[in-house]
Parts: sequence; structure tokens; C-alpha cells
Amino acid sequence: MLADLHTHTTASDGTLAPVELVARAAANGVTHLSITDHDTVAAYAELGGDIEALPLTLVPGIELSSQWRGMGIHVVGLNIDLHSADLQDVIAEQRDVRETRAVRIAARLEKTGIDNPLSAVSHLAGDGTIGRPHFARHLVDIGKVRDIKEAFRKYLGTGKPGDVRNLWPELAEVVGWIRAARGTAVLAHPAHYRMTATRLRALLADFRDAGGEAMEVISGRQDRDVTQRLAGYCRDFSLHASTGSDFHRPGLSWAELGAATPLPESCPPVWELWR
Ligand code: AMP
Ligand code: MN
Ligand code: MN
Ligand code: MN
Repeated sequence: MLADLHTHTTASDGTLAPVELVARAAANGVTHLSITDHDTVAAYAELGGDIEALPLTLVPGIELSSQWRGMGIHVVGLNIDLHSADLQDVIAEQRDVRETRAVRIAARLEKTGIDNPLSAVSHLAGDGTIGRPHFARHLVDIGKVRDIKEAFRKYLGTGKPGDVRNLWPELAEVVGWIRAARGTAVLAHPAHYRMTATRLRALLADFRDAGGEAMEVISGRQDRDVTQRLAGYCRDFSLHASTGSDFHRPGLSWAELGAATPLPESCPPVWELWR
């Protein structure tokens, strides 16, 4: 068994279409895949009804944006009911937030002298949800920055003009939504938030109290000390452990489909909840 329970397609900020993603995952030996696009499940509709015919087991999922203490936090919902009415409502609300946010980011970027970024990013996002990576690509395209990394460092990252985060719903609310859609709420990539241990513990306590049941102990290929630290939190807060690459595009070896480090033995895997 090789699980990859955190991936993105063109339905959000990934570069592969859903069918391409499934084919690449299968070729890489992934047996259990979740497509977890930002605030949308459109990839599943694009794959069509015949999920049984796919060369791997597909676990319906989504990555929802939230805020906690004013900070942007991502919650992955796994094994959700794609047809739940609650889920459709949530997605509609998140789409509104993303649109409002895109307008605000664009207005702020215009103040720095960038001409009409909104129409460009709408074009880049196509039918998918608009995210900061689309703004980043546009900044690269017009030569404002050399690469995506620089775009985040100078324009879109924490404290920069395009960092509009106080619009997202509260973490506890988002966890509740995932439960309403009969899914498992998984705290996404806890090590990426660069929090102090005290703050991360407070986040995990609040997440757990809100009904969160799992955390990503593995996010792509990661160092052993990170894995050990996260496995410790997983035990301390009696959470189940999830694993995923957070794949967005080919070419990044540490975030390739199925590239995740194996889950440590000491953590109960999230799929035990679905038996
Ligand atoms: P959004 O959901 O619109 O806030 O965009 C967040 C996404 O931007 C993340 O899921 C990543 O795909 C991407 N991202 C965030 N920070 C960086 C960074 N420093 N460099 C490249 N991509 C990033
Ligand atoms: Mn992303
Ligand atoms: Mn994320
Ligand atoms: Mn992600």
C-alpha cells in the first residue's frame, strides 16, 4: 500500500488535470490517492462517475482554508461525502471568499504599479479557484520577479501586500463543516506554519476540541527530526496520522506523487478510522 492523501490539480493551483494526476500517481505506485484541491471538489466531477474503473483507490477529499488567531491554517477533509448538501454550501461560501480576496489582492498589487492583475489571474486560473499562486505566476510572466518563490517573498507572503488572510472562516467552523460532510478533518502540514512549540500545541488542542481527528505527520519527503517531532504531537493529542505529498506540479522531487516518507509505526494511520 502507498497512500498519497494530499494533492492538487488544475481545479485549484496544480498544473495537471485530474486524469493526468491519477495516471501519474498510478505510474508512481500510489494505491490510495486523495485529490485535495483548495476549496473545491471540481476535480471529482471532471473525473466522471466511474471512480471504480480507476487504477487506484480514490479517497474523496478537499483542502479548506481557515484562520486561527488571525493566521491562515489549512484543514484537509478526507473521505468526505461529495454529494452532501452541506459540502456544496461550504464550497459556495469559500468561492465567494476567494473572489473577494482576489479582488483585494489585485487592488493592492495595482497600488504597487501592476496593471490590471485580476483579468490576468482569472485567465490563468481558468475554471479553477483563484489562488495566490496564480498571482505569483502572473508576476513572473510580466517580469516583476524571477520566480514563484520571489513572488511570495516580495508580494504575496506573510505581511506583504497580497497577504489578505482575515477573510477566511474560523478553524473550528471549518472542522465542523468537514464533519457535517461526514469526513475526517486533518490538520494540514503543521510544520509549515513555522510556529513555536507552545503555539502549535495550542493549535492542536483547539483543533482537537473542534472535532479534528488527524494531522499530517508526513508532508512530502521530510527530515527525520521533523517526522519524530510531529509523531510526538500526534501521540500527545491522540490524533490519527495522515500522509501526503502536497503535489502541485511535476519537477519537485520532495513533493512528487507518492514521494511521502512512510508513516512512523507509533502513529495510528488515518485510514483506520474508515474501516
Ligand atoms: P492561497 O490558497 O491562495 O492562499 O495560496 C496558498 C498556496 O500558495 C499554497 O497552497 C501553496 O501552493 C502556495 N504557496 C504558499 N507559499 C508559497 C511559497 N513561499 N512559495 C511557493 N508557493 C507557495
Ligand atoms: Mn496550493
Ligand atoms: Mn496547504
Ligand atoms: Mn495543499
